[in-house]
Amino acid sequence: MRRVLVVGGGFAGLAVGRDLATHFLVTIVDCKEFFEYTPGILRCYVKPKHFDALSFNLQPVIEERMGCKFIWGEVKSLNANRTAVIKPMFSPTEELIDFDYCVICGGCNFGPNEATKGESLWFPTVHEIGRSVSEWKQFDERFIEGRRRHIFDEWDTLKRLQEAKESIMITGAGFIGVEWITEIAHFFNGMPMAIMDMLPQALGPLPDNAAKYCQAYMTKVGILQAYSIKKDAQGNYFKVAWSDGIDQKTKKFVRNNQYPMGDTAVKWDEIPCVSRGSAGENTFGSKGFKQPIHNGTKFTSGKDYNCIGVKASNYFLNHEPACLSKMGPGGGKWLYMDKTLSCVKYTGEQKINMYNVSAFKPEHAADLIGVWQKNGDTWSNGKLTMKLDTKPGADGSPVKDKKGKDAKFLIITCKPDKDGEGIKLYSKIQQENGAPFHSGDNDFTYTDLKGNTFKAVAKGHEHFCEDDDGYSRVYAIGDCNYGCYEGDGPPPTWALPFIPKISYPGEEEGIVACRNIESTDALLFGEKENCWGTPVRLAEMHWPWGAGMFATSLGPNDACFVVSANWNKGSGIKVLWGSMSAVQKEVIEHSKVDECGFGFLGRAIWHFVHHTPVHLWGGGPRWGY
Ligand SMILES: Cc1cc2nc3c(=O)[nH]c(=O)nc-3n(C[C@H](O)[C@H](O)[C@H](O)COP(=O)(O)OP(=O)(O)OC[C@H]3O[C@@H](n4cnc5c(N)ncnc54)[C@H](O)[C@@H]3O)c2cc1C
Repeated sequence: MRRVLVVGGGFAGLAVGRDLATHFLVTIVDCKEFFEYTPGILRCYVKPKHFDALSFNLQPVIEERMGCKFIWGEVKSLNANRTAVIKPMFSPTEELIDFDYCVICGGCNFGPNEATKGESLWFPTVHEIGRSVSEWKQFDERFIEGRRRHIFDEWDTLKRLQEAKESIMITGAGFIGVEWITEIAHFFNGMPMAIMDMLPQALGPLPDNAAKYCQAYMTKVGILQAYSIKKDAQGNYFKVAWSDGIDQKTKKFVRNNQYPMGDTAVKWDEIPCVSRGSAGENTFGSKGFKQPIHNGTKFTSGKDYNCIGVKASNYFLNHEPACLSKMGPGGGKWLYMDKTLSCVKYTGEQKINMYNVSAFKPEHAADLIGVWQKNGDTWSNGKLTMKLDTKPGADGSPVKDKKGKDAKFLIITCKPDKDGEGIKLYSKIQQENGAPFHSGDNDFTYTDLKGNTFKAVAKGHEHFCEDDDGYSRVYAIGDCNYGCYEGDGPPPTWALPFIPKISYPGEEEGIVACRNIESTDALLFGEKENCWGTPVRLAEMHWPWGAGMFATSLGPNDACFVVSANWNKGSGIKVLWGSMSAVQKEVIEHSKVDECGFGFLGRAIWHFVHHTPVHLWGGGPRWGY
């Protein structure tokens, strides 16, 4: 039996363990001794006994129920020679172990602050690098007891703030910010509370009616809301002006068309806000909402919770910078993956391989093929060069980017063909200040003077860990990966547009990674055809429909459930709200915790959600993975 190393025992890691345990020797490594149901963690800080319902120790579940091996320790480095360096919890030294396949399911951090490595209340501080700069070094959150003590401590802080009637401020009105302030409002009512966001409304990606429902709930329970307000790293506040978002063709409002136009500084007391029971323009000053005070070390009055985003924690691949994204939320460093979810190295900045130029006339193809290396502002393969330049549109004037500036493309000027025609290849549109190549393949389009268009594809990546037969041995799934596979044109046309960092798609990715490990194993050591006589092949990830389902809780008695959302802001349909939706969230929570703990009921409920035998809609294969 081949050995599979799984980095991380969260949603994605446990899904992989459940799927592969019967055919492989699976070892799951986690920095902490316990599983915690992250989507429910906010409730624990306002009702600490809830933590017991959301957490369990990993070792008995993984070893006694699942039939895998568990190592309580931190993966410190993952190497392309199929080895990993692990620091076991109670060993003074690091250990080297080898594997046949590896699935990285290490998740991410949920705080934006670089100084604390993205530390937040929502995820335990478990990495060595994070613990060294932690704001709560007194709690060792790798232990379930350390985590529990931290939860009690924060509950205590909230109790003290409530008694003193000091301000609670939430910066960021996304899912976490809205869920957090509504939990506080329910369990610690009577405190002055406000939430702020730089977007013109709460819950940016949700459809308008769902966002408005959540805003109305917050107004009802007395939470002040300030929108189009930005806070910078120094703690200064700005009003953000937004474009109107009107689509010129349809004359309708389109959320994706909204762009920030400029900022104006604003003082705390003058920050405009929405408030219960008073019409017209309110401000923090007119509502008597005091600014929380931080003395550089700690809050001395009130508290401001930062809920503005995620941060990568893929430290074990720091020695392979080409695997880590240059872009993405929280400063990048997400794991690049290809369509099969293999962990890939982004080679674009230094070199790319040009291939698949069969559509071209041979005299062009021969010159294009090869390894292209960057040299200053130009790229060359020894025969041709490419440079950043503008591209003429249909009317002959340069193509414009979204901001109305001349868009830049990478352009290869080929030698004239035998008819003497000028030939140029244009890359996809370049992002401002962005790296010219991303993790995916980059298409170059070529239009000859007769109007024929051809494509050449520049391969911008290679497998991080590849065997002699060319198969990838390391996969990256769940919150830790880059979350998309870019292509030519706008996101809807990409092979894999942005997938939100939520648990459902991570588990769905787990199914694809497991199938690909099984397929690779069959191709290398077993049958090359399945029972229908079809050749075994690797599966490609699709955008999972479940990634468009969002249940936003509003305290314990209210919630709002949206389905059918996609990568377009404002997409989706609000299908359930109020107390029924709150009950639905509870049912999901209990059954998912049970499934993760290898309980029968949880598995019976959720197994076929991901192991769907027939896909009747969505981008998945008709007969399942
Ligand atoms: C407040 C909040 C609310 C949320 N609400 C929802 C919701 O309602 N619905 C939803 O679907 N999603 C929600 N999410 C997101 C969801 O929790 C994550 O998408 C999900 O946990 C990701 O699963 P994962 O397995 O990829 O990573 P994780 O669950 O983060 O698991 C990663 C695991 O890897 C371990 N690990 C990390 N690095 C190492 C290392 N170097 N060595 C060993 N182990 C390591 C960690 O200890 C951890 O156990 C919410 C998140 C937050 C913070």
